[in-house]
Amino acid sequence: MSKKVIWAIIIIMSTSLVGVGMIQLFWIKWSVNLDEKNFNDKVITALNRVKDRLRQDVEDRAYSELLKQRTETSLSSGKEMDSPFKPERTKDMNSLSFFLNPSEYLEAIDKDKLDLFLRQELADQGIDLKYEYGVYSNELHSYIIVNGNYAVSIEDTTKSSNVAELSPLLKAEYRISLFANEFSEPGHLNLYFPNKTRFLWSSVFPILLSSTLFTVLILFCFSYTVYIIFRQKKVSEMKTDFINNMTHEFKTPIATISLASDSVLSPSIIHDENKVRRFINIIKQENLRMLSQVEKVLQMGQIERNDLNLKFGELDIHELIEDAVVNAGLKVQAKGGSIHADLRAKDPVILADHTHIGSVINNLLDNAEKYTPEKPEITISTSDVSNGIQISVKDNGIGIPKDAQKHIFEKFYRVPTGNVHNVKGFGLGLSYVKAMVEAHGGHIQVKSEPGKGSTFTVFLPKKQKTK
Ligand code: ADP
Repeated sequence: MSKKVIWAIIIIMSTSLVGVGMIQLFWIKWSVNLDEKNFNDKVITALNRVKDRLRQDVEDRAYSELLKQRTETSLSSGKEMDSPFKPERTKDMNSLSFFLNPSEYLEAIDKDKLDLFLRQELADQGIDLKYEYGVYSNELHSYIIVNGNYAVSIEDTTKSSNVAELSPLLKAEYRISLFANEFSEPGHLNLYFPNKTRFLWSSVFPILLSSTLFTVLILFCFSYTVYIIFRQKKVSEMKTDFINNMTHEFKTPIATISLASDSVLSPSIIHDENKVRRFINIIKQENLRMLSQVEKVLQMGQIERNDLNLKFGELDIHELIEDAVVNAGLKVQAKGGSIHADLRAKDPVILADHTHIGSVINNLLDNAEKYTPEKPEITISTSDVSNGIQISVKDNGIGIPKDAQKHIFEKFYRVPTGNVHNVKGFGLGLSYVKAMVEAHGGHIQVKSEPGKGSTFTVFLPKKQKTK
């Protein structure tokens, strides 16, 4: 899959995810709005009914008061009422409205009745939510009833705490005019639900939560898939590089062997023993080179299968290093450099596999030489550390960039440095070194600065943990 296709999929998938998320949010908001509209309608209906019942109550009380007064006057004046006919109610009510002006209506509200009506009507509408309310008088410029009590004036600045308490009421969303006629509007009833928003959202909360959860899950799986795709792509690129590399590495010895065998077979040489020996030697050397390459690849397979078959024995690290230094010395000297051994460990004998630890040290020295293009100055040192020995290989080579340092121990990884592509390698050396050091219960670290050099530090324990 090309990078373009992967990026196109990522963009399409991300856009779709954002789109789906936005549509979900839109639906949820829409549903909350619908619920709110429903809720508002119910509250308004309840308030209208409260308003009507309040008017009825005030008028009923005024009417009975009127009747009482009339009875008293007629009794005291000795006159009979127009009995058996009682005064016609509507007629009386007209006269009542005449002397009960709108603001008197407001002041005549019975706080307990208001409380009861509100409770009943809201319950009738199925609203079971904490609420606060107040009756505001336009004439007095203050609340006259607040939450079932006759209130103190909120204009009274000495009671500033009251103002604070009432402030949500002042901004109350639900307000209905009380006892208004065409000439005046004496006041209004304000209603406020402190928990309304929470209540409205609580019904959609499970949907919101689950949709967020699923979106996060999809996002996580998607990111992980993209990560895997990129990693697989990188591994496959590295494998292709490896195959190209290996083919190249084999091509030279095969060509040399072919040439040497042709030469041996040529009639002018076949009878010259010295020349035949020389060519056969070349064939042998090239054969050994191929063998060592094949061995490296096979070793990697063994590590992967966890089939290391280590042969632990007493191993003098210093002896091993001295041998390795002699071998590596030739190549280093050919480049005009030198290699020093600074062996300070007092007890260099550890329990380890001779062949593999030898390969570890050879690999590190090999890399130090390979990646130092001019005059390599390589130092290999040892020191005692608690329960083990520390081996450092320091060079003055090209160094390794910071972000590549965490990858160099991965299989097939090679730092992509344009100008050193001529350095041969499979990208297997350090992954082998790491696997081997860890198989011995040790660890490896790298410190490096591009252009200045690198130091690889290996820790190996003295004794192997009994399993
Ligand atoms: P290779 O066969 O490419 O040498 P290795 O696994 O040994 O593979 O090393 C992986 C990569 O780490 C190398 O390709 C090289 O870029 C980098 N590297 C290893 N050792 C050194 C060093 N001493 N100095 C600079 N770069 C190094």
